Amino acid sequence: MSRTKFEFTDNIMYLKGVGPKRAKALEKLNILTMYDLLTHYPRAYEDWSRITPIIKLAFDDQAVIVGTLSRLEMRVAGTGLKIITAYLRDGTGQIKLTWFNQEYLMDKLSEGMRLVVIGKVKYDGWTGERTMNQINSFSILDDGEVPQLGIMPIYPATATLNQSFFRNAMRNLLSKMPTLEEILPQNILSGLNLISLDEATRAVHFPKSREHLSAARRRLAFDELFLIQCGLMLIKRQAQDERLGITHKKNGELVKKALESLPFELTKDQKKTFNTISKDMEKNLPMRRLIQGDVGSGKTAVAMLALVKTVENGYQGALMAPTEILASQHYEKFTKQLSDLGIRVGLLSAKITSSKKKREEVYRQIAEHEIDILIGTHAILQEGVQFAKLGLVVTDEQHRFGVSQRAKLEKKSEKIPDMLVMTATPIPRTMVLTVYGDLDVSLIKELPPGRKPIKTSFKSTRSRKKIYEFVREEILKGRQAYVVCPLIERSESEVMSQVDPATEIYEMLSNGIFKDFNCALIHGKLRPKAKDEIMEKFRAGEISVLVSTTVVEVGVDVPNATVMIVENAERFGLAQLHQLRGRVGRGSENSYCILVSDGKAENSKERLRAMETTTDGFKLADIDLKLRGPGQFFGEAQHGLPDLKIADVFRDVEVLVAASEAAEKYVTKEEDLAYYSDLRKNLAIAYGEKFRQITEA
Ligand code: ADP
Ligand code: MG
Repeated sequence: MSRTKFEFTDNIMYLKGVGPKRAKALEKLNILTMYDLLTHYPRAYEDWSRITPIIKLAFDDQAVIVGTLSRLEMRVAGTGLKIITAYLRDGTGQIKLTWFNQEYLMDKLSEGMRLVVIGKVKYDGWTGERTMNQINSFSILDDGEVPQLGIMPIYPATATLNQSFFRNAMRNLLSKMPTLEEILPQNILSGLNLISLDEATRAVHFPKSREHLSAARRRLAFDELFLIQCGLMLIKRQAQDERLGITHKKNGELVKKALESLPFELTKDQKKTFNTISKDMEKNLPMRRLIQGDVGSGKTAVAMLALVKTVENGYQGALMAPTEILASQHYEKFTKQLSDLGIRVGLLSAKITSSKKKREEVYRQIAEHEIDILIGTHAILQEGVQFAKLGLVVTDEQHRFGVSQRAKLEKKSEKIPDMLVMTATPIPRTMVLTVYGDLDVSLIKELPPGRKPIKTSFKSTRSRKKIYEFVREEILKGRQAYVVCPLIERSESEVMSQVDPATEIYEMLSNGIFKDFNCALIHGKLRPKAKDEIMEKFRAGEISVLVSTTVVEVGVDVPNATVMIVENAERFGLAQLHQLRGRVGRGSENSYCILVSDGKAENSKERLRAMETTTDGFKLADIDLKLRGPGQFFGEAQHGLPDLKIADVFRDVEVLVAASEAAEKYVTKEEDLAYYSDLRKNLAIAYGEKFRQITEA
């Protein structure tokens, strides 16, 4: 090769043994450059480290053998199939080797050669002999050469580019590649016992042993996750650097009064979280905090205190809820609790914004600081809403709002307001680190005292009669029930399926077993006004049985509802079922959640049984994540996980946590700024799109 300089960005075409034609084929695998090939990691490995004596081979063994070739011949079968056969002997015995339609091998092979062969031992139907006819790969040994044994890589390959192409190309690439400069600081390397980048890069393709391979994988997984974590930290830092936030004062009289006016004592977790939030708000950096807490753990109470704090400092606060019902529920609670303290609470909902006069009036009150705390839905995001002095924005139930909507809110005032995100969808730690790495996280794990656990049971449709009898008894005691269904109505594609949609269940119940009770049907296709009316009636106790879709999932508070039946429960994620279940158990009576499912899939039963045995939302989320994968868990579109080439956020949890901790220390140190330009470069190479906001800085 005349080229002496090696660049990762060089076209792969220039690698020895590739050329334009194969480069074209490589393009299909998204391999365009040397770097792309280098990071085309093996999808598996074959263990060539142990040679099996031929005499010990048994049928169906996958084995490595070494021996001398004899009786090489090729014949053409009646069907035109070209069959090469030969025998390999090693002193303990011999075995037949068979290749189909690879006549070019006749030029390569000759009797007396020594070969290393890896393949599967099969039974030859013609002769009854043992034969290897699924030969994964083999290599020819030179005179006196000791076979190169070890762990062999298996690459994602194509029809035209086979394993030996990749192995050779990779060997060429590695032999030309100069020793890679270490990019991680020595203290991280030694602290976490990581091997060097150069060694890991070579070893991931051709490891010396299993241990060597796992050390290599660990190092490269660390790099990948560390890079992402640093990226997220940079985003966070950049947001904080560029834009000075609001420095709140220490908690004073108003906050104290608000605390005293709460009808309960805060739990330990609530206190801790509020303290953390207070400290965040007192810094001049904008707060970016995620509060995770199970349904009913009392997040709203904490948010209310934070909002009071911003009001105490002469600012306005905003609370954004995902639905109209929730917004008005919050509005009522806040008004009741805070108006005695002289805090002016306002509501901005679709009902108000649909009348121009009312809307303009609320907009004016916001702009002229006649409202201290504004509660609303998406309506808060509308153009006309401009705050006089916005100090804190709380968004409830994060999973319904996108990151861009959060950003929109920030622009509603001159200074950067503090931001608090609350979510009741328990997100496992691994996911938090990768998806919300730009937010600080607080957990509220403990539930307020006196809650009775919800009794959950998993039943088949055969038990329906009994279930409904039970619901009747509850209603006769004066309680109310939810019946939740996955679909509104049967679509054409579902005509034959096993799903019972809400409309049909409603017809069946309201004309049948619950004929003498007030039943109602609520779903997302109803107009907001109609939905609100039904919810209002249910809340007032005028409706006993509410058949619904998941519209009741979020936040609605009806303490008198003690039973929830979930139809076709297998159709829901565990996190969602847990969220639904949180609608009952809000009062002092015993409550019940009955999951009805005939789902046959083994993992659907396993998932529903997990609902029976645990009430810990985080545990359930973990189980769900394991059984259904992150795509299902978050919904494909919104999970926002960067594509990982080697790390696996489930298998490599230990590495992920280490990477996150290392990144946190690393990116916050001023003196390491020089490293950032490299970091940005690496981020751009690996994840151009995902990290555009910082790689383009
Ligand atoms: P979340 O927003 O986390 O779902 P909420 O703040 O709505 O939870 O609280 C759920 C219910 O528990 C509300 O009725 C609230 O008044 C009550 N609550 C909150 N904190 C406490 C507490 N520390 N002790 C007793 N009840 C509480
Ligand atoms: Mg809530």
